[in-house]
Amino acid sequence: MNRRQWLFGAGVGAVAGMAVQASTAHSFAAEAKGVPKAKPLDISQYEPKSMLQVHESYVAQAKYPVIDIHTHISGSVRSSNGVELAAEREYLGTPEECLSVMDRKNIRAMVNLTGGYGKGLADAVSKYDRAHPDRFFTFTEPSYEFFKDPNYPKIQADAIEQAHKDGARGLKILKTLGLYLRENITSGKLVKIDDPRFDPMWEACAALNMPVAIHISDPVAFFTPIDRFNERFEELNNHPDWSFYGGDFPSNAELIEARNRVFARHPKTQFITLHFGNFSENLQNVSENLNRFPNMTVDMAARVGELGRQPYTSKKFFDKYQDRILFGTDATLHGDAFPQQVFNDKLYEIYYRFLETEDEYFDYAPAKIPPQGRWRIYGINMPDQIVRKVYNENAARLLHITV
Ligand SMILES: [Zn+2]
Repeated sequence: MNRRQWLFGAGVGAVAGMAVQASTAHSFAAEAKGVPKAKPLDISQYEPKSMLQVHESYVAQAKYPVIDIHTHISGSVRSSNGVELAAEREYLGTPEECLSVMDRKNIRAMVNLTGGYGKGLADAVSKYDRAHPDRFFTFTEPSYEFFKDPNYPKIQADAIEQAHKDGARGLKILKTLGLYLRENITSGKLVKIDDPRFDPMWEACAALNMPVAIHISDPVAFFTPIDRFNERFEELNNHPDWSFYGGDFPSNAELIEARNRVFARHPKTQFITLHFGNFSENLQNVSENLNRFPNMTVDMAARVGELGRQPYTSKKFFDKYQDRILFGTDATLHGDAFPQQVFNDKLYEIYYRFLETEDEYFDYAPAKIPPQGRWRIYGINMPDQIVRKVYNENAARLLHITV
């Protein structure tokens, strides 16, 4: 045995052996004193209180007016197997409910991504956008109920034109495309994100200058087994239907590749890639794609938990791509079951604290137990000019509005 082997092999063994002896001695002593044995604890019951004493900021209002590019005020009244099948909208709350939080938190405007299409869209626009000018903007969605019609590519492109006339400010694509929509709408083979039947729709958006807010894939842990190695075990255990592990689901990488082929094929269409480019666990990947596709921007919705656990990397990223990051939360009215996106004052305070302070080790969601994984986050304290771009300037440019 040479000196190196001793240091890294036998040496470690010797130290470990000493540790075993020490702990055995300790347990004898504990038993003698009548100290109870360690008892098992159900992980769902575990709510550790941090003993760390560090500075805590309270950011009641954003430093500059905010455009929240990613909210959900309405939804389809009917859906099946993850595919929305009705134009008609159900509303999750009233404009007045929204406005009271908006005024308290310095939110200039909310973008309701799930505005539907047809009569449902026109109704949402008149109830929100027209009733409260400059405070609400509504996006349209594809009408998958007509997907089997041989004329669907044209029907869908025409629907975008109609939606634009009806006041839609962009198009929203839910992860339905790639993960739920099938050849027979709710059954059969999964339809790929770059299916050519959608080409006229992407082109219609380019022609009308309507940005496309696209959500594909999901957190990468949703594509791995729900077991003790899964960092989002509790979340997936509570919502097993969120898992895309197994079955005929494509991998996260395949979904991103299909999405990238769409970006490459439609360079004049502006894509807001939701949830931080759909890969906030790998900012290197997001960075490579932003470099490749000038028609791509990202929003930070429901990913403050991911960004805030890699504060050094995030800070550099926000600095480098300061013109291409949009403020978004995924806020859903009365979405209490999903604290990381519930529309309330506390949710916004967390996002502001992340962007405007260098506070350490705080909760990324207003919840007793971190809902997306058991960790906490750190603020990245961006300079004023970058905060302003993220809060409103970058979104205003895409929405063609002035703040
Ligand atoms: Zn969303």
